[in-house]
Amino acid sequence: MAPSSTSLIDLPDLRLDNACALLAHDARNGQPEHGESPTDYLQRVIDSLCELSLKDPLTGLGNRRNFHSALERQIETVARSGESVLLLMLDIDHFKSINDTHGHLAGDQVLQAIAQCLARCVRPVDTVARYGGEEFAVILPNCRPLFGLALAERIRQAVTELLVPVGPMLNIQATISIGGAYAPEWVRSTAELWIERADTQLYRAKSNGRNQACIDQPQELSVSAEEKGLLFSHLATDEANPFESGPGNVTNRVNA
Ligand code: GH3
Ligand code: MG
Ligand code: MG
Repeated sequence: MAPSSTSLIDLPDLRLDNACALLAHDARNGQPEHGESPTDYLQRVIDSLCELSLKDPLTGLGNRRNFHSALERQIETVARSGESVLLLMLDIDHFKSINDTHGHLAGDQVLQAIAQCLARCVRPVDTVARYGGEEFAVILPNCRPLFGLALAERIRQAVTELLVPVGPMLNIQATISIGGAYAPEWVRSTAELWIERADTQLYRAKSNGRNQACIDQPQELSVSAEEKGLLFSHLATDEANPFESGPGNVTNRVNA
């Protein structure tokens, strides 16, 4: 039975042929003067599904799936353009004792407040996600290595200054440890390797006493002539040989 615009279907009952019938109904009857049209309704359904699959419900940040797809996009960008992209992994210090002392709900409030703080610290182009539990991840495209540590320090400092109200006359202060790593420029890395390098730095920050940031600075690549050929052969056109151009060209970043 073709649904009418006034009898919109409950989400769990929605099937493709219902959706087609709703759209056909809209096409036949035009937009209603009042209320939601079937097309708007379907768009709302699609938006809610996207939100459900990409957002962490507690903090409103992107979830791990969202983070992974953003990371894969950045891996492509780095391989294509050599842009400097920084990945930060952040972990709340001694979070278990916050839960144990003040309760799980207070712990949730701390997670929410830190999530909002992280979102305030970054640019719209950056990605902030809840990686899982009390861990967050931040991806910062176009972030020069010179500024990486200062940036991570700014985020760490902002979190230490937070006072999270969790009850009458009770504020909680928390600290975070941060580990960061740049994707190797001009190379198609993998998400696993990149995360592992940032995690190693996070482990360093934890073992050095917590409430600090450690960054793995990008290494100068050591690439053989044969690898250079493989990496850049698609760029070598008749008019320009990338291996012979002047300052600023890719060759200046790759040492034989
Ligand atoms: P460290 O400084 O070494 O990171 O210590 P930690 O206590 O922060 O780390 P640990 O891994 O021992 O504990 C993490 C805790 O985070 C345990 C877990 O119950 C809690 N946790 C994970 N997800 C949530 C959540 O959604 N809400 C709350 N309230 N707690 C959570
Ligand atoms: Mg942890
Ligand atoms: Mg922790």
